[in-house]
Amino acid sequence: MKKIKNIIVLGLSSLLIMSSLVGCSTTNECLEQIKESQVNVGQVNIKKPKYVFLFIGDGMSHTQVNAAQVYNGTIKNKDKVELEKLGFTQFPVIGNATTQNATSFITDSAAAATSIAGGVKTQSGVIGLAADKKTKTETIAEKLKKEGYKVGIVSSVALNHATPAAFYAHTKSRGNYYDIAQQMANSDFDYFAGGALLNPKGLDKNQKDAFDILKEKGYNITDNKDEIMSLNSESGKVYAINPQIQDSSAMEYSIDTDKDSLMLNDFVKKGIDVLKNDKGFFMMVESGKIDWAGHANDAMTNISDVSELDKAVNEAVKFADKHSDETLILVTGDHETGGMSIGQATTGYDTAFDILQNQKISYVEFNELLNKYKEKTKEKDGKLEDLLPIIKENFGLITKDDKDALKKDNKNLVISDYEYKKLQDAFKETMKEKDKRKEGEVIYGNYEPLSVTLTHIINNKAGIGWTSYSHTGVPVPVYAMGASSEVFNGSYDNTDIFKKLVEVCGLK
Ligand SMILES: [Zn+2]
Repeated sequence: MKKIKNIIVLGLSSLLIMSSLVGCSTTNECLEQIKESQVNVGQVNIKKPKYVFLFIGDGMSHTQVNAAQVYNGTIKNKDKVELEKLGFTQFPVIGNATTQNATSFITDSAAAATSIAGGVKTQSGVIGLAADKKTKTETIAEKLKKEGYKVGIVSSVALNHATPAAFYAHTKSRGNYYDIAQQMANSDFDYFAGGALLNPKGLDKNQKDAFDILKEKGYNITDNKDEIMSLNSESGKVYAINPQIQDSSAMEYSIDTDKDSLMLNDFVKKGIDVLKNDKGFFMMVESGKIDWAGHANDAMTNISDVSELDKAVNEAVKFADKHSDETLILVTGDHETGGMSIGQATTGYDTAFDILQNQKISYVEFNELLNKYKEKTKEKDGKLEDLLPIIKENFGLITKDDKDALKKDNKNLVISDYEYKKLQDAFKETMKEKDKRKEGEVIYGNYEPLSVTLTHIINNKAGIGWTSYSHTGVPVPVYAMGASSEVFNGSYDNTDIFKKLVEVCGLK
């Protein structure tokens, strides 16, 4: 009987498709009609998700995702060409989202997050307002909050940075950190976690402390690991800040953490504990420094944060395992950063991702080592040779005179004469005061010249290229699983992520 029913449904479905196709001319028109006819026979199974997770890898597109898979595969399956798949790339549904904003094919995070969170195109730099910089959007987080969902916003960078801000704030400029922090306090959202705040006392440090405003609004703020680990659904409104903060009020790069560090997955796990309730929750989780490592052209740091994001997603997957038909998990990026490529000019069809494991710290930590050297060394006395030991220790790169240069495993780590010349040029620039550096922007993207030259050298040797210190205009993947995930199949625009969420959550 069931079989017969299926045949009838299939028959009806093709009839509907055929009849609706009469008169369509462009591929677009026909596809639109097919989609409509499929909806008619109920092939898209919309079930309102009670628990919604939206993970955003800032600056993460296909290349960043696959670079992590190639790296993990190279390390695990030595001498074989086998990817080690991330968890989220195995989700059953995959979409592709375009990222252009209202005025450029290359977006920034503010405009991209405004599109994802609020469904409108806007200008770069604008948070939660349409392109006229006036019309307010109501974000998916605000809509769900009204519906009785609890809302969590987690980010590895400052909570008043562009991406998290776009879910609760509306302001003309992403740089209005103090204004954004005030809007955060007024959001009434239930859980903020991860990084600290930028400019909590305003640009001139003379305003009322935003942390005090948050407290007055009823937030329980803690940066104590034990307190964070004991948070639960009785904790009220919470702002949990990682005790280990690195640069720009952000959490550390995962490559720089130690075994005691709180990681992004800890904040997702805690978020579930705090937000779990009968009416459901929405949790946006941003891994914000994939983008920063992309800007700095530091592949190992980038890859390590993508892998860490996957662990955070896994917390949601474990939750979904217990609430399978009520949970929707989305993983996407807001744009690509750095123009990262797998394969580059001097390595042709080869890769050697295994050498990346010799990089022990991020460019940020290496800059700290350089600062220490500069503090005790005058510009005229500085020699690149002084730094060769820390270059070897932290990047594995060695000169041809190094005692380990002839070892078979070190073949790809020996610095060529051409590369050594580049390092010498960069070293000279690094030793100069910042305002006396030449061509810093064009060649080094205003990063510490020696650090960025070292990451370029080890990345190129591994077979990774970079074309920009900024974002690029390539689309981003959207991985989906769980309740109503099917609607995230196919190619669409980043504003459609919001529209699809509104649709599946039965919102207006
Ligand atoms: Zn960026």
